[in-house]
Amino acid sequence: MAKHQFQTEVGQLLQLMTHSLYSNKEIFIRELVSNASDAIDKLNYLQLTDEKFKTDGWKGEIGISFDEKDQSLTIWDNGVGMNDEDLISSIGTIAKSGTKSFVEAMTGDAKKDSNLIGQFGVGFYSVFMVASHVDVISKKAGEEQAYKWSSDGSGEFNLDPVTKESSGTVIYIKLKDDEVSEFATKERITTIVKKYSDHIAYPIMLNYKEEVTEELSEEDTKAGKEAKVTLEAKNEKINEATALWMQPKSKLKKEEYAAFYKSISHDSQDPMVTVHTRVEGVNEYTTLFYIPETAPMDMYRADYQAGVKLYVKRVFITDSEKELLPTYLRFVKGIIDSEDLPLNVSREILQENRVIANIKQSSVKKILSEIKKLAKDEEKYAKFITQYNRALKEGVYQDSTNKEAILELVRYKSTNSDKMTSLAAYKDRANTEQKAVFYIVGDNEKVLNNSPLLEAYKKNNIEVLILDDKEIDEIITPAIGAYKEWMFKDISSCESPAIEQSEEEKKEVEEKFEDITKKIKDILGEAVTDVRVTNRLSESPSCVVKDVNDQMAQMAQMMKAMGQEMPETAPILEINPDHEIVTKLNTSSDDSLVDDIAWLLLDQAKLSEGLDITDAVSFAQRLNRITAKAL
Ligand code: ADP
Ligand code: MG
Repeated sequence: MAKHQFQTEVGQLLQLMTHSLYSNKEIFIRELVSNASDAIDKLNYLQLTDEKFKTDGWKGEIGISFDEKDQSLTIWDNGVGMNDEDLISSIGTIAKSGTKSFVEAMTGDAKKDSNLIGQFGVGFYSVFMVASHVDVISKKAGEEQAYKWSSDGSGEFNLDPVTKESSGTVIYIKLKDDEVSEFATKERITTIVKKYSDHIAYPIMLNYKEEVTEELSEEDTKAGKEAKVTLEAKNEKINEATALWMQPKSKLKKEEYAAFYKSISHDSQDPMVTVHTRVEGVNEYTTLFYIPETAPMDMYRADYQAGVKLYVKRVFITDSEKELLPTYLRFVKGIIDSEDLPLNVSREILQENRVIANIKQSSVKKILSEIKKLAKDEEKYAKFITQYNRALKEGVYQDSTNKEAILELVRYKSTNSDKMTSLAAYKDRANTEQKAVFYIVGDNEKVLNNSPLLEAYKKNNIEVLILDDKEIDEIITPAIGAYKEWMFKDISSCESPAIEQSEEEKKEVEEKFEDITKKIKDILGEAVTDVRVTNRLSESPSCVVKDVNDQMAQMAQMMKAMGQEMPETAPILEINPDHEIVTKLNTSSDDSLVDDIAWLLLDQAKLSEGLDITDAVSFAQRLNRITAKAL
């Protein structure tokens, strides 16, 4: 007996499975069948591409049996199997990356939680929702020795060599007392398999015993003979076992598409969008794509799972190739099945393959056009946007070929409407003189909406886009350049005044305030890059802007976007020449008051933009001094 300890995270996970999840337990069958199917996929591929593994007459098959007396359920497959190392790494000591995030993502809502199981790649452990003990007996294809892994789901498991005829895996589940009547029945197992695994491409055979009553002849009946009742073993295929995507669209019902989606995505909701395409011609292939109703949980994790599986003539090739679609479309689930690729296509070849490149290109176009169709239904599209707007923004940045198309799909908050707006609608609403898309970017919608920088735009009825997903908007928006020749302009940069002012007018004001701007600049020193009068304010006395032409500032911005610590570059302070504070300050001779007010003009402008002020104590002291004077 070789005892092994589960790693801490796996232990926590098992603890949750055994004690916390009560609803939707039936999904353990879906998860084990899905693993069996994956294992057969792998051996199927090896058989077709590697002489070493070729076995005559081998056909992938999954089996299920149950024994009420023994309180057990058994699920087996003749797939690729696992050796001792595989057993330890896949279902043992080493926690997969998904394990920790699953434990973290668990909320009190038990139903929701069991829905997360498949998405986090922790499917196998779901068996402990119903099992008091589990044996996994497995033999890896091409190897001699078989192994038995067994555990009751507490802190440890045993791993021992055993004998087993053929390659594959048998999972023997001892059911908890109160789960026996629940799962050890033919009807229930059949229903669950039909519900979740109908289109698994291999037959799922249910083994069961049925009472058969002997048929008596008339004579025997007359003679009062009793009919014998015997138990007869039955072996019945309980799933469809076809590649759903190869069936003609006209034959498939919405429910069938949805059921298949659930089986490949481990999602419990119906998909938002289904796109089934068959292409004939130079390249021949079928694609079936789905957009989930809710964005996949791991979408914003670096180790997210690829959503699209690649098949060649119905043979599974890979489900871990992230380049089958561009990364911004990583929320799309589904399959690509090519008729032209060779079966033994390798990773390296895949990435440079013309056929794949072609399929990828047309798939992107197809998916984008489906999203465009969805956009016609305002209500539905609003839902899509809550889940995928950010992904679309990434697309604008990543996919130069489809940038124009994606820009039409992105939605923005704006000063002009409660609903999110498209750029087309923004442009339509603009007055005739406007020639740019104005935006303000930050991480707090409320702060942005109250920014003094918006004053002149509001006054002049110019709509400004409110971009509050700073992390991404700040990098991407400047990179967009233009939408239909309208440049994107950040209103917090010095280059985009809302109202054009003649050079003369500008000069006149500048001269009038020359002394005071110089004075403030001296007082503030390195805290500002420059001080100047502005025409972008109406109610506020001051605002801070950044210098778009400052190469250093741009550099710092880029470094920050890449996750580098960078010191904030000093802003430009703009003062409102029409504001009472500024006009009075211009004629004040009280130097200590001017000093305090100069700092207050800077600090309040920073606060209004949601920026930190460096010295809060001095800020309060100055405020107190001025308040005392005013009283
Ligand atoms: P996932 O299927 O998302 O990888 P699971 O927890 O369901 O996560 O399974 C963990 C791993 O255990 C699988 O990736 C696979 O390597 C292995 N495994 C589980 N069941 C089987 C099986 N029936 N045959 C071969 N390998 C299996
Ligand atoms: Mg699995």
